[in-house]
Amino acid sequence: MYCPRRFALLSLNRDWNENAFVVKADLLHEHVHDGSHSFSDKNKVVRSAVTVFNDQSEYDIFGVTDCVEFVKDNDGVEICGLTGKYKVRLVEYKPKAPKGEPFRESDAIQAFAQKLCADHVWGCDSEAFIFYSDIKKRVRLPFDTAYEKYDEMIRSLISEMRELSENALIPKRKRGQKCSGCSIHDMCFPKDSEYNVRKIVMSQKGADMS
Ligand code: SF4
Repeated sequence: MYCPRRFALLSLNRDWNENAFVVKADLLHEHVHDGSHSFSDKNKVVRSAVTVFNDQSEYDIFGVTDCVEFVKDNDGVEICGLTGKYKVRLVEYKPKAPKGEPFRESDAIQAFAQKLCADHVWGCDSEAFIFYSDIKKRVRLPFDTAYEKYDEMIRSLISEMRELSENALIPKRKRGQKCSGCSIHDMCFPKDSEYNVRKIVMSQKGADMS
């Protein structure tokens, strides 16, 4: 969602580079996933780094959540391995809060993908939050009131990603794309026109064979 060209460079070209933003986010996630956030008390069971998936054909996605809270609730759902009923809360950790808005849409869409997976796995209607660690604030995402909007958004993103992947296409930089925080800026050559990895490989193979 941040940049289709970045998606294609990372996933098709296997380009990678780190900058301070990436390292900061990695350190935060290392801490969240190190097991110290997993605990249980009489009201809830909290687990970090839980793998979830949704294999319905329109989504077909999987990922690892930062943190899942199973909160005791008689109106909730049964969770395999736990006794009683629970409502499910997802918490995604981000190092820096945005300015002038409660959350970034790109953070929300990531949490929405997790919700689609969690709801599929546990048959629930999970709530989702972003925890911005610089302001130590948890923000609730409006998936109950704006479900259709996010669902439409994620379907369109998934179809765009599939199209790029299937055609091995690295698109041009979007008009108005912000690049200053991008870790692969030095490898991107954003002014270069689109190129197709498969065509390059095939043309090299053709040249080798001749
Ligand atoms: S430098 Fe800009 S155009 Fe290139 S991948 Fe990064 S954000 Fe996208």
